[in-house]
Amino acid sequence: MTSAAVAETWAGGPSGAGSFVFMYMGTGIGCGIVLNDEVVRGTSGNAGEIGHIIVDPGGAPCDCGMRGCVKSTSIPQVLVARAVEAGVLDGPLEELTGPAIQESFSALCAAAAAGDPKAEEIIDHSAVLVARAVSTITNALDVDRVVFGGPFWTCLSQRYLERVPALVREGSATRKIHEIEVVGTGVGEDVGAIGAACLVLEHTLAPRSQRLLLEG
Ligand SMILES: [Zn+2]
Repeated sequence: MTSAAVAETWAGGPSGAGSFVFMYMGTGIGCGIVLNDEVVRGTSGNAGEIGHIIVDPGGAPCDCGMRGCVKSTSIPQVLVARAVEAGVLDGPLEELTGPAIQESFSALCAAAAAGDPKAEEIIDHSAVLVARAVSTITNALDVDRVVFGGPFWTCLSQRYLERVPALVREGSATRKIHEIEVVGTGVGEDVGAIGAACLVLEHTLAPRSQRLLLEG
């Protein structure tokens, strides 16, 4: 599938002129970039590698040598570790593999949904940090839309959609010129197109996410 076709799918057809980013919430956090209907891939296919955007200066140390990157503060493994520290989830944390991370992360989200204040704080704080990364990206690229998806999105969607849109609006350098829409996959009239885009992105981004996990 050519870039243009992919972009057209993402944008929901020929009438959907689109400049937007797709935030992929997996065991890594990455983004797909579409500018004026063209998928941006970069020289080595790694455009959208956003894990080391600093969202919390002075925050948790990252394997890149900096502190407070998206990767070291906001990916599911980190939130699960925080939940264990806070006593929301039972430990131990060693040897957490993909399915175990998903399971623990679901338990954390369920605790937040049930009103556990520590769980709520962990998820809500991550929404603030991820929104900072999104603002950096949307300000640099001047997109009009942010679409969230990926294997860990469903679990986060309710709390994130209550917070991230307003945070991204506040953080937008172009807020007086145009709105930035923040949506989740499967939400709204473009559900089919966004779902198809998700499939495409799972194929293109998932291997990278796994690599990030292994590197971590
Ligand atoms: Zn980093």
